[in-house]
Amino acid sequence: MQKEFIPYHLPFPTHTTGLSFVKEVLESGKTAGNQAQSLICKELLSVDFPNSFSFLTTSCTSALEFSTLLAGIQPNDHVILPSYTYPSTANAFLLRGATLSFVDSLPNSPNMDLDKVEELITKKTKVLCVMHYAGISLDWEKIERIKSRYNLTIIEDAAQCLDSNYVKNGTDYPLGSLGDFGAISFHETKNISCGEGGLLLLNNKNDITQAEIIYEKGTNRSAFLRSETAFYEWKSLGSSYALSEINAAVLRAQLMQKEQIILSRLKVWNEYKLAFSKISVPFVPEYAKHNAHIYYLQLADYKESVEFIQFMQKEKIQTLHHYRPLHSSDFFNDKHDDRSLVNAINFSNTLVRLPIHHEVNSDRVIETVLDFFN
Ligand SMILES: *Cc1c(COP(=O)(O)O)cnc(C)c1O
Repeated sequence: MQKEFIPYHLPFPTHTTGLSFVKEVLESGKTAGNQAQSLICKELLSVDFPNSFSFLTTSCTSALEFSTLLAGIQPNDHVILPSYTYPSTANAFLLRGATLSFVDSLPNSPNMDLDKVEELITKKTKVLCVMHYAGISLDWEKIERIKSRYNLTIIEDAAQCLDSNYVKNGTDYPLGSLGDFGAISFHETKNISCGEGGLLLLNNKNDITQAEIIYEKGTNRSAFLRSETAFYEWKSLGSSYALSEINAAVLRAQLMQKEQIILSRLKVWNEYKLAFSKISVPFVPEYAKHNAHIYYLQLADYKESVEFIQFMQKEKIQTLHHYRPLHSSDFFNDKHDDRSLVNAINFSNTLVRLPIHHEVNSDRVIETVLDFFN
């Protein structure tokens, strides 16, 4: 019998409701950003982020760029960020002319090693940008300590983190809401998606006015729409970051199914964890409550990881490596200092992602993985 192909990701189907909302948008003629659908999305998201101000954006990448304008990054400002992440995390700062220092991963987790941050801080250091891999929280207490000691702005690349939390004294703090700015992705490959989309979370009230201006191409149009001024005009540097209402309509349908989407992924994640307890389980610290965005295995070395991926491919199961470290990329290699970031390189060589979504035949994946290891 032909085995069915198992992709590593499948967006959760919300076509019927999504289409009806898109129809509403097209029939209304109100297709640009920040109107009815966006407001509903923001309402739905405010349950997750009760203490943040949110701006829907065209992507997480644009949310990160938005945050660098808000943080006022100037040429030659220094930014510290992880090497094991997506290029968007770094591009956002390079676009403003910042200089970058990349930090290694932990030995037992792709997340950045926060104990390696302080030694990199100079008088020019303005931002510590952090990324929670697989929706698994970093040790926020350490970040707070660094922030208060050196007065840095903290930007969270929380692209993968909708519905992930940092837990302290029994209280859940949603990832993306802990830094000064947090960026979340609704790209097709994320748990909740609308094609291309993102969210910038502002966690300080003081930033709202400037954020509204940057969001509206550098104008005070938002104030004008509230009838606070007679006309609107150019006020500062800005860009076009708003998510169109068409995408917001799709996002609305996805957000309405959020619990079910996350639960269906957690079910698979926990089945993998149980089955692979003697092989490889992602490290989840006690302070992290994750959203099952990624389940990864760690293989012995690069050669074995390639053999594994090929073995799974023959069985029609898609598995894949993840990030190539940014510090040693073709683009950045000659700008990196001479620190060797061995853990980031190790995760790049040995980490393999398994299929995780609502439709995975987890029994078949588990059986095939165990076959490989036997
Ligand atoms: C997906 C992802 C991005 C990019 O998100 P887009 O919405 O596609 O721009 C950035 N950083 C990380 C860590 C990601 O996983």
